[in-house]
Amino acid sequence: MSVIDTALNQIKSLHPYTPGKPVEELERELGITDSIKLASNENPLGCSPRVQEVIEHQLSEVSLYPDANAYYLKQALAKNLGVETHQLTMGNGSNDVLDLIARTFLTSGKEAVFSEFAFIIYPLVTQACGAKARISKALPRQSAQAYGHNLEGMLEQINENTAVVFIANPNNPTGTWVEKADLLNFIEAVPEHIAVVIDEAYFEYVNVPDYPDSTTWLNQFNNLIVTRTFSKIYGLAGLRLGYAISSPEISDLLNRVRQPFNANLLALSAAKASLEDSAFVEQSIQVNTQGLSDLKQYCSDKGLFYIPSAGNFLTVEFGSRTSDLYQKLLNKGIIVRPLGNYQLHDFLRISIGTPDQMQRLYDSLSEIL
Ligand SMILES: *Cc1c(COP(=O)(O)O)cnc(C)c1O
Repeated sequence: MSVIDTALNQIKSLHPYTPGKPVEELERELGITDSIKLASNENPLGCSPRVQEVIEHQLSEVSLYPDANAYYLKQALAKNLGVETHQLTMGNGSNDVLDLIARTFLTSGKEAVFSEFAFIIYPLVTQACGAKARISKALPRQSAQAYGHNLEGMLEQINENTAVVFIANPNNPTGTWVEKADLLNFIEAVPEHIAVVIDEAYFEYVNVPDYPDSTTWLNQFNNLIVTRTFSKIYGLAGLRLGYAISSPEISDLLNRVRQPFNANLLALSAAKASLEDSAFVEQSIQVNTQGLSDLKQYCSDKGLFYIPSAGNFLTVEFGSRTSDLYQKLLNKGIIVRPLGNYQLHDFLRISIGTPDQMQRLYDSLSEIL
């Protein structure tokens, strides 16, 4: 028997997250230099210029541990969100927060409920804890929210072992969302001993009617946990910072599991500076709203089906041409995201880039198609 046999079965059978190649490596292989990455839902405008300033200022302090309690950032966030600082739990990205939630509530014998095509981290953290995933079938293709969460179906998956329900609103990789009244009815129907996680990674981008801000329900539901991130609109994906907003009691539990220094020094001050630059956020929303609308128009003109999206990406169906098209785009230096790991083999997820990047995408797509 080897030490590998000693490892937990739930870890040995875990499908690892498959990251894309580094852009530099890809360019070297293809012999190109000016590739564009529309693959990871990053902010094509980068981040607020204020971030560079604070990071330069803080470089002399990287020998120091970060503030384990994120005092100043929590103050700023609490004020922005209208919550108390002890309702916040910081994570090394919101993925870290999702992991903390899983480790707080899930173990062998417990179950987590989420939708087919939901964000890939939910099955990952569920299995890593030895818990069982209950996956509810997504809405059908003909539905207004094609491939989106079926909340009634999710309710049916809840049983006496359920400990956590994950909902991404909007969801990645589909981009689909759930409306306010439907989500409120859903949360009301979930027994109050079950943690309901609403992952709002794209919250700031959303520009659709009846989209809920779940943080407004925190006083009503003690079992509600809302997660947000600095990776998307704030453009700090590389610094890794996300957070949960919950009751103080849940936050207290999550913080016991949390490693004290999971949120790093540069990320904490960069995040605080980002919150102060509302002009950058406005501009990012504007570029995304226009870019998303143009991409939808492009698809309609070309007769391409896409999944409705409220995020900063669009998931487009290319059918049997998908992998060929993906490769041809790659050869032209345009990196998008195949969705085979979500069993969406006929789709590519395209992040919204700058107007110039999108024009290059359209030119290349039109040429290939
Ligand atoms: C991108 C994304 C996140 C954010 O992950 P970070 O760890 O904060 O970078 C969370 N949830 C969903 C659904 C996402 O698409």
